[in-house]
Amino acid sequence: MKVTLTGTGSPIPDANRAGPSTLVQCAGQNILIDCGRGVAMRLVAAGVPAPFVSAILITHLHSDHITDLNDLVTTRWILTPEATPTVIYGPLGTQKVVDGMMAMLTPDQKYRHDHHADLRSGPGMQIIVHEVVPGDEFKIGDARVIVGRTDHRPVTPSIGFRIEAEGKSVVLAGDTVPCDELDALCKNADIYVQTVLRPDLIELVKQFVPALASRSNDILDYHSNVEDAAKTAARAGVKTLMLTHYVPAMQPGQEADWLALATPHFAGNIVLGPDLTSAEA
Ligand SMILES: [Zn+2]
Ligand SMILES: [Zn+2]
Repeated sequence: MKVTLTGTGSPIPDANRAGPSTLVQCAGQNILIDCGRGVAMRLVAAGVPAPFVSAILITHLHSDHITDLNDLVTTRWILTPEATPTVIYGPLGTQKVVDGMMAMLTPDQKYRHDHHADLRSGPGMQIIVHEVVPGDEFKIGDARVIVGRTDHRPVTPSIGFRIEAEGKSVVLAGDTVPCDELDALCKNADIYVQTVLRPDLIELVKQFVPALASRSNDILDYHSNVEDAAKTAARAGVKTLMLTHYVPAMQPGQEADWLALATPHFAGNIVLGPDLTSAEA
């Protein structure tokens, strides 16, 4: 099982970090969790172009986690000789968002149909959406996926995924504060991927951009910070903690600072870094 951070950024554009997304490769499947800004480019860098994605799992419908879903769907359609539907698993509300996205893509689909006879003869862009709720389980090939509730209120619903295959397990928590359901989902996982922020650095940002102080305060109460993630990892007994979705963006040379916040709370392996950082279990 290999886990690659295909995007470690956040809603704040960064020159070097794509938006949030993570690739899990196990049991011959390429499972993508969330699809933030630039995900199609990072997937190519990870050796898995859009047509080779087995399924997309969406943790919640915040824009930074789904902004390039349309790029993946279109790229898959125009690069795949045979029509292969994009399979999406997401929280309640995903179908409505996908319907709106498909409406947005209608002109493009018409242009390409008009111009390419082989695309015209096919069924067009196909998407299969499965809306899932906490407690659901499903299979992607031989990989088993378990859906758990997370706490990203007022964003609801928000869900996390535990993927199990070949005797290994990874949890993709998405944006959430610590909660019992997350602890249960993470129990004894080999790898736990958590989106995190740094309240101390956000405090500095507030000083430089006072006009954004109120909005900056708001984001603190519905994300895990680095210490939270480390404590969740310790409580759940995971082997490896992967940190991603750095808010604010972790700058080169700051890695040790971020690590130093986690290590007092979690004695296991901690992985963080630039886009395409990976871990194996
Ligand atoms: Zn979010
Ligand atoms: Zn986010």
